[in-house]
Amino acid sequence: MRPNIAIDGPAGAGKSTVARLVAQKLGLVYIDTGAMYRALTWKALTLKLPFTEEVLATLAQNTLITFAQDCQGGPQKIFCDGTDVTQEIREPLVTHWVSVLSSYGEVRQELTRLQQKAASSGGVVMDGRDIGTTVLPDAPFKFFLTASLEERSRRRHQELVNKGNQVTLAEIERDIAARDLADQSREIAPLAVAEDAIVIDTTELSIEEVASLIVEKYQQEVQ
Ligand code: C5P
Repeated sequence: MRPNIAIDGPAGAGKSTVARLVAQKLGLVYIDTGAMYRALTWKALTLKLPFTEEVLATLAQNTLITFAQDCQGGPQKIFCDGTDVTQEIREPLVTHWVSVLSSYGEVRQELTRLQQKAASSGGVVMDGRDIGTTVLPDAPFKFFLTASLEERSRRRHQELVNKGNQVTLAEIERDIAARDLADQSREIAPLAVAEDAIVIDTTELSIEEVASLIVEKYQQEVQ
């Protein structure tokens, strides 16, 4: 069984781009757990459901979330009950409400179960907030990516502007700071550095450089 790689960190630290690249370089499967929380949030908003733990936990148990890739290393698509929601889950409304949904223990329990199942055969690169601490505590490779709030906001702003969104840097910075606080202070599986994780400050590093650090570490230990 090929070992799993856990990559955690706050919003905008570059986790998903790095994780995707690492998976591509090592021929592993990339799983974006943030997209799973977002897909469920999108569905709840679309159905105009109340954001209570009971309702959202039931929703989690009755939702099929799947990933697909057109080609190895290509952009990943996410489907919610068969509907392609890749674009929709990045909308500001989803970004706003996802922190509420992800604070509920019963919702996390269900998504954690699905994530553990997806990683049970090994060979995945999984990114999120609680992968090294809760979802895959036995993963032999754990990384925690950080960067200053200014740098993370700048990157996210650039990403959104490139997609044609009209948001200000100040709005992004406020949003990221609020999400950091919510993710770090929630009671269940908060954003935290696993004891055995390697912390990488990506403020001064390119995506390629961060991915290379992880790939080298993996290759040193896996033949
Ligand atoms: O990674 P991304 O920013 O897309 O994640 C969106 C939100 O989903 C996070 O702000 C967090 O509240 C939640 N999340 C989580 N646990 C994970 C992944 C994401 O609580 N493993």
